Amino acid sequence: MTARVTILGSTGSIGQSTLDVISRHPDRFTVYALTAHSRIDLLAEQAARTHAAVVVVPDDAAAARFRAIWPAGASLPDVRVGAQALAETAADPGCDTVMAAIVGAAGLPGALAAARAGKRVLLANKEALVAAGSLFMGAVRESGAELLPIDSEHNAIFQCLPHDGRASAPQGPAAGVRRLILTASGGPFRTREWSDLHDVTPAQACAHPNWSMGRKISVDSATMLNKGLEVIEAHWLFAMPPDRINVVIHPQSVVHSMVEYEDGSVVAQLGQPDMRTPIAYGLGFPDRISSGVGLLDLATSGRLDFETPDLGRFPCLALAFDALRAGQTACIALNAANEVAVGAFLAGRLRYTAIARMIGDTLDWQAGQRAFAIDSIDDVLELDRRARAFCLSIDSAP
Ligand code: NAD
Ligand code: MG
Repeated sequence: MTARVTILGSTGSIGQSTLDVISRHPDRFTVYALTAHSRIDLLAEQAARTHAAVVVVPDDAAAARFRAIWPAGASLPDVRVGAQALAETAADPGCDTVMAAIVGAAGLPGALAAARAGKRVLLANKEALVAAGSLFMGAVRESGAELLPIDSEHNAIFQCLPHDGRASAPQGPAAGVRRLILTASGGPFRTREWSDLHDVTPAQACAHPNWSMGRKISVDSATMLNKGLEVIEAHWLFAMPPDRINVVIHPQSVVHSMVEYEDGSVVAQLGQPDMRTPIAYGLGFPDRISSGVGLLDLATSGRLDFETPDLGRFPCLALAFDALRAGQTACIALNAANEVAVGAFLAGRLRYTAIARMIGDTLDWQAGQRAFAIDSIDDVLELDRRARAFCLSIDSAP
């Protein structure tokens, strides 16, 4: 029987890599639904190629565009419109596997709906866990959904931990594990001084030395807030306390992360920096299937270097650890402020070095707010909205 796959965010970097892996295994996978927020022409091309039964677009104008460019004579998919239709599609009985590859907290409702519906969830959308880790993991436990991390570091850790061919949410830290060690490339500014980063442009920040990714995560990699989000993600995925999650800089991006055991063993997962490896792992689990990724030739790669991150030059990483220790509301504020600040930077309205300041100011503001219990997705979205509003209101001048 083939697995029926829905890809939330199919036109993005992860979405396109997922379709590439799926296309290599027509006997194993069929595409059920595809969703996109923009690039409707690419969505139509993907839907025509994969014979998707359903597509989800953001509004009526995008739906009209989709129908207008749909090839004459081909059978039109069910075109659904809006955020609610997207969440319903993630839970649709027509699919059993959902790739959550929307960028930002906007991906949370869809990822959560898939978890609640007991799907196999391939989670690339780390912001969903940062904003709503407890809610999301609770939904996975209650429904019995399978959760496979796609972020390369978390996929590596998952591969390095013992498991019995099941991908259920853990109740506590895995037995015998001392620490999780996340590797970070250090991004394009690894060796640059903070004072030298004032005038960097979006194009420079997005020029990642090893990975080809969407623009938001590329900027997050440059500031290393991405690694901070990943520390929070690891905390939820593997039920690990913050002081047992470490970050080490590894510029070659060959060792994707490691697990340190009580007996002194360190187990690592290595490979080319290509997201099709973790995507294929999640799609095929527990089987190993081909991904199109070339072999790793260690003799040719030469050396593997490691260094401790300098929190003075990467203040965003320290802010993320602070937020994780402070709790869920701080994590929501951290993520919301970062999305606003990175959006402003990419639009040319904010200096690169002001991103960390905006996040820090928003965390300070959040700490002064009245306590707010987070019991539902509406609570998460309300706090996210308030943090964005605060962040937009503060002076963004350098
Ligand atoms: P991207 O910008 O290339 O693609 C994002 C996708 O989400 C697109 O299909 C877009 O149409 C859709 N989208 C954007 N805003 C939306 C909204 N408001 N509502 C609905 N859909 C929306 O991003 P990406 O690089 O593919 O990253 C996707 C997610 O995966 C992010 O959370 C990122 O952190 C994570 N991730 C990406 C990589 C990578 O290599 N690209 C690696 C690890 C984790
Ligand atoms: Mg990653």
